[in-house]
Amino acid sequence: MSDYVKDLMANVKAKNPAQPEFHQAVEEVVDSLSIVLDKHPEYRSAKILERLIEPERVLMFRVPWVDEQGEIHINRGYRIEMNSAIGPYKGGLRFHPSVNLGILKFLAFEQVFKNSLTTLPMGGGKGGSDFDPKGKSDLKIMRFCQSFMSELFRHIGPDTDVPAGDIGVGGREIGYLFGMYKKLRNEFTGVLTGKGLNWGGSLVRPEATGYGSVYFGAEMLATRNDSYEDKTCLVSGSGNVAQYTVEKINQLGGKVVSLSDSSGYIFDEEGINADKLAFVMNLKNVKRGRIKEYVEEYKDAVYTAVDSNKDYNPLWDHKADCAFPSATQNEINEKDAQNLLNNGVFMVSEGANMPTTLDGVKLFLDNKILYGPAKAANAGGVAVSGLEMSQNSMRVPWSSEEVDNRLRQIMKNIHTTCKETSERFGTPGNYVNGANIGGFLKVADSMMDQGVV
Ligand code: NAP
Repeated sequence: MSDYVKDLMANVKAKNPAQPEFHQAVEEVVDSLSIVLDKHPEYRSAKILERLIEPERVLMFRVPWVDEQGEIHINRGYRIEMNSAIGPYKGGLRFHPSVNLGILKFLAFEQVFKNSLTTLPMGGGKGGSDFDPKGKSDLKIMRFCQSFMSELFRHIGPDTDVPAGDIGVGGREIGYLFGMYKKLRNEFTGVLTGKGLNWGGSLVRPEATGYGSVYFGAEMLATRNDSYEDKTCLVSGSGNVAQYTVEKINQLGGKVVSLSDSSGYIFDEEGINADKLAFVMNLKNVKRGRIKEYVEEYKDAVYTAVDSNKDYNPLWDHKADCAFPSATQNEINEKDAQNLLNNGVFMVSEGANMPTTLDGVKLFLDNKILYGPAKAANAGGVAVSGLEMSQNSMRVPWSSEEVDNRLRQIMKNIHTTCKETSERFGTPGNYVNGANIGGFLKVADSMMDQGVV
């Protein structure tokens, strides 16, 4: 670590105490960027990195709502408008009890680089609430979403800030949020993405993050003349990203043997085929049940509950070729990364945001496996959100084939950018440097053009 990076990190930690996820995300990026800053001192004198780390605007607000029993609840809402150098702020909303300022700042920071990599004109943002939608009635969800939007609506707009979904925010929540925005503003605009197909949504948006992460993996495998044919894959999570990751791996000839939620994971050695995936989709998206119920339907599969005394996640301790962490941040620690390597995993494509700790990432890089970091591998979701914004502006919907072809091409281009950038800066095969530097350059040059704002 150079003295410049050391000083910068000390300053970030002092200025943003108790935000470990934000520190982690910044450290990974600035570590990669020291090579660029050595070559381009103009970025350093323009304090580009220091400006990138400071959000353009942070909104934090009260979200009061009343449930069916008349009880009043108070949640906290946030929107981090991180950087608008290359387009309106864009990034998801997360509803989860763990949500806090530091987590949303890490996500918004990552989003800036990810959105730049897609080549679409989107700045970076993120938002959400500590509200927990799990197990709540539709009425409670609607009342919460309406209250949340009754404050957020004054800060967003199709040319200002365009939120989307993330953990806990799927089609149902986007519907309630959009309905309230439309009522308050008295206008029908593409202010949210992930909308329903009948009211401005894009085909392939629900599939996009999962499909995109599998496409990115396919590009990495192709550099070794390999493919998914007969590969065994570990997938974590069982939400939006995980479900469509499984669907695409199956289509491309691989076999998925695991899925999880925050209570535990299932291991199905026979593979989670299309019928079993349909069961999971119904269980998670309609019945809103727990992944444990999978083993009641498929008796040969095994369920393992989370054991908080363990310092590793047994999901990552099975023989496999590829891994797709698709649940949440820091779900692969150093021990998990070592277990993956010991079990033969040689390709990791990150569907979730920052699912691997810095120590885990270092192990992957030192062992020279194909490691696709989140900001590159899971950019497919926001890319199709960008395509949804284009379709909304043109008022013309595209066919699913057209959107999927564009998604595939965008993932191919992101892979090429990461690969070529890592080579240009002397670290071939290091997709972490490739993604961080590739995403940075366009934003940094735009900030230089626009002056100190
Ligand atoms: P989702 O549909 O809400 O599903 C999240 C899944 O992860 C659920 O199975 C959930 O289990 C599990 N999970 C959440 N928090 C967890 C925790 N603390 N420990 C263990 N498991 C946990 O969300 P999603 O959209 O699939 O998002 C998954 C990841 O992908 C997130 O990191 C998100 O930021 C990232 N991502 C999403 C998109 C997108 O387009 N949706 C785009 C880019 C990146 P429970 O049901 O038990 O909570």
